[in-house]
Formats: sequence, structure tokens, C-alpha cells
Amino acid sequence: MRISEIYRPGTFGLSIEIFPPKTTDGDVALFENLARLVKYQPAFISCTYGAGGSTRTRTVELCAEIQKRFQIAATAHFTCVGSTSSDLREWLSYAQNQGISNIMALRGDPPQGQEQFVRPEGGFLHANELVSLIRAEFPELGIGVAGYPEKHPGAPDLATDMANLQRKVAAGADAIYTQLFYVNENFYRFRDECAALGIQVPIVPGIMPITEFARIKRITAMCQTVFPHDLASRLEAVQDDKDAQFEIGVEFAIEQCRQLIEAGVPGIHFYALNKSNACETILDALNYAPAQ
Ligand SMILES: Cc1cc2nc3c(=O)[nH]c(=O)nc-3n(C[C@H](O)[C@H](O)[C@H](O)COP(=O)(O)OP(=O)(O)OC[C@H]3O[C@@H](n4cnc5c(N)ncnc54)[C@H](O)[C@@H]3O)c2cc1C
Repeated sequence: MRISEIYRPGTFGLSIEIFPPKTTDGDVALFENLARLVKYQPAFISCTYGAGGSTRTRTVELCAEIQKRFQIAATAHFTCVGSTSSDLREWLSYAQNQGISNIMALRGDPPQGQEQFVRPEGGFLHANELVSLIRAEFPELGIGVAGYPEKHPGAPDLATDMANLQRKVAAGADAIYTQLFYVNENFYRFRDECAALGIQVPIVPGIMPITEFARIKRITAMCQTVFPHDLASRLEAVQDDKDAQFEIGVEFAIEQCRQLIEAGVPGIHFYALNKSNACETILDALNYAPAQ
């Protein structure tokens, strides 16, 4: 299903993001976990594109395999890192030929050792350029883009970042998927600011359930995510107990999702980290039933 067809009135778009495992055992475990998640009939499963273009063909192969095994649409993430515009065209044709119907169109982070993102020779500096290319030359592909309720770390301020987000939407994005966050008020403010700018595409909150505090600390530091003090203290208190961390993290995510749903979000995009148990517990607690 194309992204533009997912978020119709009265429907709820569940999506699940995974990353390409590095080992064959990782692949087996991933597909076992996905097999448990497909009962919730996600609108799509998305697969990330490795930093520096390290999963160039792997991302598409995994997406194609997901579609074949589960008959669920897959969305391939794609970045501008290290590519000329003809490389980007070639990859997009390849993805389309493999039956991929949606692209998460991203700029990507600067390659290792580089502070600032530098335009690759003959390539693109920002995601809006990639969105324009897809819209003009691959009109059948659905397009998702990234949004940052707490500001992209490289943006000078939120207003500038919002204006840049608007460019991606103007270039033809079908929906915005947000960076992970743990303070819903920041998401609501972001949503209001999008509305004030006339952004009308669906804005889907990205939720990363906390299952392991040490890992989440690394990720939130990297993304500059605001982490609530009381949640951090509760997790610090059980730093030697993985089960307790899972319980606290999942309980928090259930409440976070419940409030977001009550606030009328069009869907939820779970950063599942290739595991199923947290998402299953959350969706069951929410009595989530896929639309018939
Ligand atoms: C849902 C989601 C999925 C992701 N998946 C992946 C993945 O699979 N692989 C991966 O490597 N990374 C992924 N990322 C991370 C992403 O690549 C980084 O956050 C990256 O630093 C920015 O990518 P972007 O597409 O948001 O870039 P852009 O939209 O280009 O924004 C990057 C920065 O440039 C500014 N900017 C944007 N457009 C302009 C413009 N026209 N002029 C001036 N300034 C501008 C923005 O304000 C921002 O500060 C993902 C992020 C999210 C939220």
C-alpha cells in the first residue's frame, strides 16, 4: 500500500521500523519477530538504510523478502549519502523493480569523521532534493520524510527546521514520520506548528519503547532527545535489572501511545529495534485491533 493511501479518515496506520541485521542469525531472529508482529497487520514495515550507504542493496532485498513472506507493504529507507544523482536514480529504479512501493526519503548523517554534511559531488545536500527527484521521476512511489519535534541536532533553531520540513512537504512528501520522543507535549507543539505552516500531510509519531536503558541512553544522546527526569530516575534505580527496565519502559510507552491516540494521531511508527515483545505488549495493552 502506498503511504498516500494509508491514513484515510477512520483508519489507523500502524508501521514498524526495523534495520538490516549484520548476521544470518540476526536475519532468522528478525523474521521470527516479524512473524509475531504481522498479526497486527501493520500498514507497512520499513527497513533502514545503513549509515554511509552500507546497506545499499540489503535494504531493498529485505523489503522485498518481507513483502514476499508476509504480503505486507515494505518501505525502503534511502539517503543521499555518498551518491550522485544518477546513483540515486539507479537505486530508485532498482527498488521499484523489486516491487517496493514506498521510500523514506532522507538526507542521512554526515559520514564518519565529518562534522557537517557536505554535498556529495553530483549529489544532493538536503532531503527535499531527493523528494523532488522521486516525485518528478518515480511518481508511483509513496514518500515518507523525517520530522523532528525537538529539532534536528544540526538546525540552528526550531523555526528554521520547521521551514525546512515544509520544503520537503512542498516537494511532494506524503507523510511525516517523527524522530523518537518521550515528551508528548513536544509532539503536540510540533503538530500545531506544522498546522500553522499549512502542512497538511499526516504526521505520524515515532515511538521507541525503552527495553534497555543503556541502549536508549546512547540513542537519545545521539538524537538529542529530551528524556523526562522522573523516568530516567526510575530506570537508573533498576540499572542492573533488565526485566525491570523493560517493564518500566513498556508501561511508559503504553501510556504515551494511549495519550497520543486520544489526541488523534493518524498512526504510530514503532522503532522496534528488530524485536517484537515490547510492541506486542503495548499493542495488546491498548487492545489494538487492525481495521477490517
Ligand atoms: C523516521 C526516520 C527514519 C530515519 N531513517 C534513517 C535511515 O534509514 N538511515 C540513516 O542513515 N538515517 C536515518 N534517519 C536519520 C536521518 O538521516 C538524520 O536525522 C539526518 O541527519 C537528517 O536527515 P533528514 O532527511 O531529516 O535531512 P534534511 O531534511 O535534509 O535535514 C537535515 C538538516 O538540514 C536542514 N535542512 C533541510 N533542508 C534544508 C534546505 N533546503 N536548506 C537548508 N537547510 C536545510 C534541516 O533543518 C536539518 O537541520 C532517520 C530519521 C528519522 C526521523
